Amino acid sequence: MKACVFTLGCKVNEVESASLLAALEACGYEVTDTLCKADLYLINTCAVTAEAEKKSRQAVARVRKFNPAARIVVCGCAAQHDPAAFAAREGVTLVSGAQHKDRIIARLGETGRFLEEEEGFCELPIPKQTKTRAFLRIQDGCNRFCSYCLIPYLRGRTRSRSMASVAAEAAAALPAREIVLAGIDITSYRDGDADLGDLLLRLGRLPKRIRLGSLEEGIVTRAFLEKMKAAGNVCEHFHLSLQSGADAVLKKMNRRYTRAQYLEACALIYEYFPDAAITTDLIVGFPTETEEDFAQSLAIVQAAGLARVHAFPYSRREGTVAARLPDLPPAVKKQRMARMLACAAEAEERYLARFAGRTLTALFEEDGGYTQNYIRVHCAGANEGGMYEVRLSKRVKDGYEAEIVREIQEE
Ligand code: SF4
Repeated sequence: MKACVFTLGCKVNEVESASLLAALEACGYEVTDTLCKADLYLINTCAVTAEAEKKSRQAVARVRKFNPAARIVVCGCAAQHDPAAFAAREGVTLVSGAQHKDRIIARLGETGRFLEEEEGFCELPIPKQTKTRAFLRIQDGCNRFCSYCLIPYLRGRTRSRSMASVAAEAAAALPAREIVLAGIDITSYRDGDADLGDLLLRLGRLPKRIRLGSLEEGIVTRAFLEKMKAAGNVCEHFHLSLQSGADAVLKKMNRRYTRAQYLEACALIYEYFPDAAITTDLIVGFPTETEEDFAQSLAIVQAAGLARVHAFPYSRREGTVAARLPDLPPAVKKQRMARMLACAAEAEERYLARFAGRTLTALFEEDGGYTQNYIRVHCAGANEGGMYEVRLSKRVKDGYEAEIVREIQEE
C-alpha cells in the first residue's frame, strides 16, 4: 500500500507532514511526498490566504486524477476553517482539522470528520528527516489575534513543547547539521519559567547549527540576545515580522509595537550581531493604508537595514476583524507592490554588497548553501551536508559564488 502526503502552506505544516510520513511508514505504508499514484492521499491544507485555501480545495481534484479509487484524507487549517467544503468532495473519506494531527493515523479507516479542540502541545512522531536542514516544531497556536489573520481561530491558543522533548528530537535529527525551530509564534515559547532564550541555551550543547523561525519584535531584549550569544550555535538570522512601517496601520492590524520600537529592536540586534541578517514579512495595501503610510513602509526597509523583505498584497480573510474594512482598489495594491518589490531588491543588494570578499561559514545542500546570516552561496567542490568556511568572491543572481577556505568537520 502506498501513501502520499501532500502539503500546502507553512514550515509548520511541512514538519507536521514529515511526522505523518514517518507514522504512515511505521504502519507499513510505502510513503512519498511527491504526487504520484497512491492508495491513500493525506492532504495537509493551508488557509493563510483565500488563494491558499482555493489551492487546498483544488489539491483534492489533483490527487484524484492519479487514482480515482484512492482514499483521500484532508487535514490542516483550510479543513478546519471549512470542513464541509472538503467533506462534500468526491473521494474524500475523512476530514480532520489543524489540531491533533497525531490522531489522524489511528482514524484513517473511519469516514466523516473530526475537529477537536486543543489540549496541550500535540506531540507527533519524529519527522522523516533526510536533509541537511531539519525543521523542529517547538510551539503551536497563537494568542496575538492580528486583525487580518485567521490562524488563532484555526490552530487555537499558544502551547509549547517541553524543553526535554525538543532536546530529544534535536539530538535525534541526524544527519541534519542545521535545525530550524518552527512554530506559529515561537516568540511565545514557554516551558514553566523557561523561555525561548533558555531553550537556545539548552540546545547550545548540541554540535548542530540552530536557526530561528519567524519572531515577533517583543522577543528582542538584551536578556534574549545574551542567551542567544551564550548558546554559541544560533545563526545570526532574525526573521522579524514587520507587516507595516506606519504606526496607524500597525494599530489597525493589532500589531503590538510601533515603528520606533521595531527600529530599536533592529538596532539592538546589530549591537550584538553586527553581521546579522534581519528579514521580514510585510503586507502591502492593508485596507486603511494611505500613500503616506505606504511611504513609511518603504522608508523603514532602508532605515532598519533589512536584508530581505517578503512582501505580499493584503488578502481579505472572511471572519477576521480587518475583513470588515473596505478593501483598497486592486490597482493601488498592484502599483504599491511593484514599488515595494523594487525597494526590497535594493535593500537586499545593499546588504549583500557588504559581504564581498568576506569569509563566512556555510552549510551546503544539494544545490548550494546558506551562510549563518542566510546568504546563498554556490561553491565548486562543496559536498551536500558539508560545512565550510568560504570566501565570497563574485555576486551572482541569488547570492554569491564562493571559494572553499576549509572544511569544518562534524564534532
Ligand atoms: S502573530 Fe499575528 S499573523 Fe502571526 S499567526 Fe499570530 S495572529 Fe496570525
